[in-house]
Amino acid sequence: MILVTGGVGYIGAHICVELLSDGNDVLILDNLCNSSRITVERITVLAGARPSFIEGDVRNRPLLERIFTDYPIDAVVHCAGLKAVGESVREPLRYFETNVSGSVNLCQAMADAGVHTLLFSSSATVYGECVQMPIDESCVLGQPTNPYGHSKLMAENVMGSIARSDPRWSVGLLRYFNPIGAHPSGLLGEAPTTAPNNLLPYLLQVATGQQKELSIFGDDYPTPDGTGVRDYIHVMDLAGGHLKALDYLQRNSGVHTWNLGTGRGYSVLEMVNAFERVSGMNIPLKTTPRRNGDIAQCWADPGKAARELSWCATRNLDEMLRDAWRWQCQNPHGYEVDNLYPNTSEPEDVTMIRLVRSADALFRPNTTRDANKTIT
Ligand code: NAD
Ligand code: UDP
Repeated sequence: MILVTGGVGYIGAHICVELLSDGNDVLILDNLCNSSRITVERITVLAGARPSFIEGDVRNRPLLERIFTDYPIDAVVHCAGLKAVGESVREPLRYFETNVSGSVNLCQAMADAGVHTLLFSSSATVYGECVQMPIDESCVLGQPTNPYGHSKLMAENVMGSIARSDPRWSVGLLRYFNPIGAHPSGLLGEAPTTAPNNLLPYLLQVATGQQKELSIFGDDYPTPDGTGVRDYIHVMDLAGGHLKALDYLQRNSGVHTWNLGTGRGYSVLEMVNAFERVSGMNIPLKTTPRRNGDIAQCWADPGKAARELSWCATRNLDEMLRDAWRWQCQNPHGYEVDNLYPNTSEPEDVTMIRLVRSADALFRPNTTRDANKTIT
C-alpha cells in the first residue's frame, strides 16, 4: 500500500488515479486545507478503485504512528504542503511548520515504522535564478526568492541527509517545473480557493469572466518577446513520472533527484496566444511591472529522468490547455458541492453513478455548460 499525503490536492489526486489504475492500494492522508473530500469520489470513478482516506494532518505525530501501525504501507508519496508564494512571504512560519516540520515528522514516523521509501514533491524553485538553461540536476542550487522556496529546499536537505545517514532509505526528490492541465475527463483539476497567483489558473478565470483581465508581469525580460518563460508540464505526465520513480526506488537505495519538465519553455504571450487558439476565447491583457522575486526564464533538462526512469513528458501544450479549459468549463467554481451533490443525503453508490455519467458526458464534444465556446 502506498501512502499519498496531500492526495486530494491538485497533483496528488492525479497521482492517486495513476497509482490505483496501476493496481496499487492507496491510502490518502490530507487535512483538506486546500482541497475537497469530493475529490476522493472522483478519483474512485476514474481509477475504478477506491482509495482509503483519512482526514488528518502530517504534523500530527500520534496520527502518523497509528496510520503506520494500522496499514501495510510500503512507500510514501509526500505531496502535502502549502504552496502559495505570496502567502509564504506574509506567513513564513506557517510554511516552515507545514513544509519542513511536517516533513520531518513524517520521516520520523516512517523511520519508526521501518518504512524507508519516500518520494517528495519538490520544485524547480530550489534552483533559484539559475544562469544555465536548460537546468539539470547538477546545477548549483540557488537562493530561493521566497520562504516557500526555502521550505522546499530545507525539506529536500532533511530527506537527503537521512538517506545519506542510513542505507535503508530510498528517497526520490522530484523537482516539478510548472504543472498545468487537468485529467482529460474534466473531473480532476486545479481548484484555487482564493484568487490564483499562477499564470494558467488566472488565465482560466479571465476566460470565464471571474477575473477582468490578465496582467502580464513584465515585458522587458531578456527573453525573445520580453515576457517570462517557463517549462509547463501536463499534470498527467507529471503523475506518470511518480510511478516510474517509485519503481526505481524499489530497486535503488540512496537519494535521487529528477527534474520533471518537458525541456521546452513558453513565454507568457505564447501561452496566451495558444490558449486563445485552443479555446476560441479572447483574453483581455494589460502589462504591469515585473512581479517581485520572478526570474526571467526557467526550463528543464529532463534527460536524467529519461535515462534513469525511462520517463518523458508526451502531452503537448495544446493538450495541456484543452484539458485545463475543459476542467474550468465543467467546474467554474472548483469542487463546488452543488455541482455534484445536489442532495447531500444521497447514498454513496448513487453519487458514483452520477459521477460516472458526468465523466461519460465530458468525453463527448459540445458538453460545456458554463462557457460560451465549444471545447474541441
Ligand atoms: P494542493 O494545495 O492542491 O495540494 C496539497 C494538498 O496538501 C492539499 O490537498 C492540502 O489540503 C494538503 N495539505 C496541506 N497541508 C497539509 C497538512 N499539514 N497535512 C495534510 N495535508 C495537508 O497543491 P499541489 O499543486 O497539488 O501541490 C502538491 C505538492 O507539489 C506541494 O508540496 C507543492 O509544494 C508541490 N509543487 C507544486 C507545484 C505546482 O505548481 N502546483 C510546483 C512544484 C511543487
Ligand atoms: N505571470 C503573469 N501573470 C500572472 C501570473 C503569472 O504574467 O497573472 C507570469 C509570471 O511572471 C511568470 C509566468 O507567468 O513569468 C509563470 O508564473 P507562475 O506564477 O505560473 O509560475 P512561477 O513563476 O512560479 O514559475
